[in-house]
Amino acid sequence: MENKEKIIELKGVEKVFDGQTAVEKMDLYIRKGEFVTLLGPSGCGKSTTLRMIAGFEMPTSGQILLNGKDITNVPPYERPINTVFQRYALFPHLNVYDNIAYGLKLKRFRNTYVDKKGKERVRIEKLSKEVIDAKVSRVLKLVDLEEFEKRDVTTLSGGQQQRIAIARAIVNEPEILLLDEPLGALDLKMRKDMQLELKDMHQKLGITFIYVTHDQEEALTMSDTIVVMSDGTIQQIGTPKDIYNEPKNSFVADFIGESNIFSGTMVGSKKVRFINKVFDCVDDFPINEKVDVVVRPEDVFLADEGKGMVDGVIISSIFKGVHYEMTFKVGKTEVVIQDTIERKVGERCSIHIRPDDIHIMAKEFDCNRYDGYITKRNTVCFADGEFECDVTQLYEHSHLDEEGYLILENGESIDLTDVDVKVEVGLKDIEIIDNDEDGDACGTIISIVYKGDHYQIIIRTDDEEEDFVVDTEYVWNENDRVSVKIPKDKIRLKLKAVNQK
Ligand code: ADP
Ligand code: MG
Repeated sequence: MENKEKIIELKGVEKVFDGQTAVEKMDLYIRKGEFVTLLGPSGCGKSTTLRMIAGFEMPTSGQILLNGKDITNVPPYERPINTVFQRYALFPHLNVYDNIAYGLKLKRFRNTYVDKKGKERVRIEKLSKEVIDAKVSRVLKLVDLEEFEKRDVTTLSGGQQQRIAIARAIVNEPEILLLDEPLGALDLKMRKDMQLELKDMHQKLGITFIYVTHDQEEALTMSDTIVVMSDGTIQQIGTPKDIYNEPKNSFVADFIGESNIFSGTMVGSKKVRFINKVFDCVDDFPINEKVDVVVRPEDVFLADEGKGMVDGVIISSIFKGVHYEMTFKVGKTEVVIQDTIERKVGERCSIHIRPDDIHIMAKEFDCNRYDGYITKRNTVCFADGEFECDVTQLYEHSHLDEEGYLILENGESIDLTDVDVKVEVGLKDIEIIDNDEDGDACGTIISIVYKGDHYQIIIRTDDEEEDFVVDTEYVWNENDRVSVKIPKDKIRLKLKAVNQK
């Protein structure tokens, strides 16, 4: 694939609709013959990108090149590109043959011939019936619907109709086939079959496919290259394997698989601490760097209690057809595990993770995040401390009654005791106190980094070894014992998503 030439190139392509950016300055190239998939959640700009390549939409700025030539201003019908949409858009009053032959019958081309007097002349010709017949037969064979020429399209199943739509798009022998969620309207079984057929067709045709989907599994199984998008920007480009095994950031990891993503800290060369334990890993980052640690559920191995690396308890287990998906709780953190052997809810056991299954990603550290729980005093416990907080932010329009129960908008009363929450605290919202008694949690300063106009200080707590990262203009010393205070209104709380049982 490496040596093949670029067939399509987007250079700083941007699309703005009524002041809203749908696609941000995008740079992307696609090689000849490649099966490329644009993958991302709904609304991230996939269709807009495809429509600009097709010519249905003009970029607000930037350039689109085809085989090195600028086609930004070339109308769609002059581009050697055809599109298959999710809605098949077949002509209901025409049979299969006529649907496919429609474009061919309209086709005119210039033919040079020599007249009786030996003079060279040019005339505009149509394709002959024989040529059209041959082309239609060929594509019907490709989509495996040879016997269907005379059939009324309305009598076909969804999958068959979509195959006709594909046949109609490829009968013109485009250099590039664009497919915008072409299988979205089909049921699961049909989709799986069509995925394989499309892949097969791609190989047989040898043309470039640019495919759009929001379905990560579809992208992983079909593509040579995946372009992961979110919010109008490219997050990562790579082979399915690259994207799956080496997600570049937590968006990609989260979107691509059911991954565990833990907050971690590098504690040495190729050593990372997360779920309160130091693991060997294969990626090297600077010491004390805050990182995201991604571990696939199928890469977590269960062992008997005391026999693995970290002990905990199984708190949920669901049978997923082939494997069990279990949730293992260690401290306040949950680890999702997939295994073919079930461990029952309540069973204490241990987990093991191999160094090369631990994927580490640099984190843009903009806020401290913790797992915490609410106490019966309506305070919140996290990072070895107990803090005053405003629990009414957990439910919109709620308030506390005089007994401390939370009253919801609909009048329902909730006891928040022991409810698990996600806690966020800004880097500037933590006050450091010069002794280890007056604050709400205490620890030792383990790192001080000068960041140009302020210091970034990491305070590590004693027991659970959690960190407070603090931006401050004041100078502190490493190894100082300190404590921290956080104003009540600076502690942001969110309910932890409840596991589906
Ligand atoms: P996707 O295909 O990834 O779901 P789209 O490319 O269709 O996303 O849309 C990206 C964004 O651009 C969305 O916010 C959508 O509402 C907006 N958008 C798309 N087409 C238009 C249009 N013709 N006019 C205004 N906004 C549009
Ligand atoms: Mg779309």
